Amino acid sequence: MAESPSTFPADPAGLYDLIVIGGGASGMAATISARRAGKRVLLCEKSDSLGRKLLASGGERCNLSNTLSQEEFMERIGRDGRFMGPALDLLGGPKLREFFHELGMQTVCHDGFRVWPETRKSSTVLAALVAEIERLGAEVAVDCSVASTEFVDGEFYVAHARGTFRSRQLIIATGGLALPKSGAAGGGYAFAQGFGHRTTPRFPAGVPLVSAEDWPARCRMHTVGKAQLQVAIKKHSRIQRVGDLIFTKQGIRGPVVLDISRDISPLLETLDEVPLFMNLCKGRNQEDWRTILKDWRSQKPAPVVERLSEEVPLELAEVLCELSGVSNTETSHSLGGELKESLIRILVQTPLTITGTTGFGGAFVTRGGVRLKEVRPESLESKLQQGLYLCGEVLDLDGPCGGFNLQWAFASGFLAGASELA
Ligand SMILES: Cc1cc2nc3c(=O)[nH]c(=O)nc-3n(C[C@H](O)[C@H](O)[C@H](O)COP(=O)(O)OP(=O)(O)OC[C@H]3O[C@@H](n4cnc5c(N)ncnc54)[C@H](O)[C@@H]3O)c2cc1C
Repeated sequence: MAESPSTFPADPAGLYDLIVIGGGASGMAATISARRAGKRVLLCEKSDSLGRKLLASGGERCNLSNTLSQEEFMERIGRDGRFMGPALDLLGGPKLREFFHELGMQTVCHDGFRVWPETRKSSTVLAALVAEIERLGAEVAVDCSVASTEFVDGEFYVAHARGTFRSRQLIIATGGLALPKSGAAGGGYAFAQGFGHRTTPRFPAGVPLVSAEDWPARCRMHTVGKAQLQVAIKKHSRIQRVGDLIFTKQGIRGPVVLDISRDISPLLETLDEVPLFMNLCKGRNQEDWRTILKDWRSQKPAPVVERLSEEVPLELAEVLCELSGVSNTETSHSLGGELKESLIRILVQTPLTITGTTGFGGAFVTRGGVRLKEVRPESLESKLQQGLYLCGEVLDLDGPCGGFNLQWAFASGFLAGASELA
């Protein structure tokens, strides 16, 4: 693991130009851009080392960005994606890769979409950032949990267990609530609220979903490619995603689940359960199945479940037959009438009832945070408190899987740190 550059500042009583609270991706990026702008910077991190979540990211391989154009990137974020514009102008995908290349860390993109460090190790990303922080001479205080912040007579006062630091500018880069063991505790929301900011409710996003039905456990460890998921509530039916799905003991996970959970998690706040329709057969529609079933009749008779297991894993084929009322004795030749229609319906729209998520412990990002309306996108300065900046996951912005969240953390941190001193 990369060592943090120092443990405590030599002159803790001095006035800093900037204090950054939170040594994650956004806080480290902010520290680097602020030092490059010539500011005297102190980075405070409550854990005993920087970038714990960064290390865990992407299965410890760190999917740090993607190759979408800026427009597409913001569109994929959703309603508030445009808020990211100025930060992405400064350090969007290609510029972020260049930034890391200049730090001596090469990046690769083998699938044409996801950007990784060439080593496929998140520790390489962290080491590059820490080395740059060190080279630039930024001061770092690890094991330094900020307890409170206030602004008095033109200066920010940042209180921690061993005293109080002072600065002219303050950046809140404390992240969200996902993966609490990385240091995520949500303290940054209270700091922002102390300056008058409001926050939106927070939900685990990028999180496995728990189902009322127990049949997913039987299909555990099977990955279903190109699964289509849609919320089966009329007014929420626009919530749909396509991607790989994995069954678990409790329900479902995998990229498509992590993505759709961003929208389902808030719904679960008001609804006890969220019904889903899943197409687990590569998007085949009723017509496709009619053709396939007809084709089965031209082959020698076989149990329906056996034929179906040529299309999906056997355990899933068994479940699909059970759900549609097709017994073990039903054959490809005897299947007909209402039973056939029932099977086709279940194959096209397999129902699953979502009753919860696995919580922040299993989530990779937080949905909700400090309201964007109270922050200037062009600088990430608070509209309520001059000299206060917010970046990364603490803001009410999150993205799907695929490098969106780290890209935002790096770009927003870089923008917040680069702001002019008043
Ligand atoms: C398991 C996992 C895998 C992920 N994989 C990817 C991926 O591959 N690609 C991707 O784009 N995104 C991924 N993400 C999401 C991404 O890692 C985060 O969105 C991003 O790291 C957020 O950066 P941040 O700087 O805003 O917050 P964080 O990285 O959470 O940093 C905040 C820091 O603030 C510190 N802190 C909090 N409170 C205080 C306080 N009071 N005093 C001092 N310090 C404090 C915390 O200890 C923490 O170090 C993943 C997340 C998880 C949990």
